[in-house]
Amino acid sequence: MPALLRPIVDRQLQPSSCAVVLILKLAAQHPRLHQLPQTKQLKALMTIIRDQTTPRGDFVFYSDRVIRLLVEEGLNHLPVVNKEVITPMGMPFQGVSFEGRICGVSIMRAGESMEQGLRDVCTSVRIGKVLIQRDESTAQAKMYYSKLPKDISNRWVLLLDPMLATGGSAVKCIETLLEAGVKEDRILFINLICSPEGVLAMLEQFPKLQIITAEIDESMDVQKYILPGLGDFGDRYFGTED
Ligand code: URA
Repeated sequence: MPALLRPIVDRQLQPSSCAVVLILKLAAQHPRLHQLPQTKQLKALMTIIRDQTTPRGDFVFYSDRVIRLLVEEGLNHLPVVNKEVITPMGMPFQGVSFEGRICGVSIMRAGESMEQGLRDVCTSVRIGKVLIQRDESTAQAKMYYSKLPKDISNRWVLLLDPMLATGGSAVKCIETLLEAGVKEDRILFINLICSPEGVLAMLEQFPKLQIITAEIDESMDVQKYILPGLGDFGDRYFGTED
């Protein structure tokens, strides 16, 4: 059980709206969980993409806007070093420059929707891909395909997957990144919506992982769709709904 859920269990709270509020507060206060500033603009963008009547073109357009905000927030967590430049006025300016190289890794298929948002702010960024699916015989997440940049162990990794539900695929992917030599504290997991269970489990299992998200939802249904959520992100983004 994630440590952050223990106060709820200790106080013998039922999974009521009271407990949900407490989980959300605890999650939101976690130092390695970075939620985008909850501005009216973000709320309006999220309202559009959560609306079941939003047509696909608008879903893509407004998701891309949120993804851009998330990637920009991710870059805020990269290290910088001091750098002095001379301005056109001939004066020195004490600034900073990014230290360390980055790459993206998208969890197929929905994570591929976030690749362009990363390319828009990091020109010619390298992007690896993984395909992870549930193995029906073992009920475990299984890696079917993985293509990562060769020098990934020297890079910061922006891990891209729009919806963090149970975290099964993300856990498998992070294990693969760690096996490839990536340092855990150099992984920034970027998503639009988290379930409280998923986010707390990930933070507990990976004690140096950082998560960047737009909103934390209330729960999941029996099929592990996030509630209230936005449905199947990949289907809505790539237009493969029934
Ligand atoms: N993936 C989705 O696309 N939606 C969810 O609600 C959960 C996982």
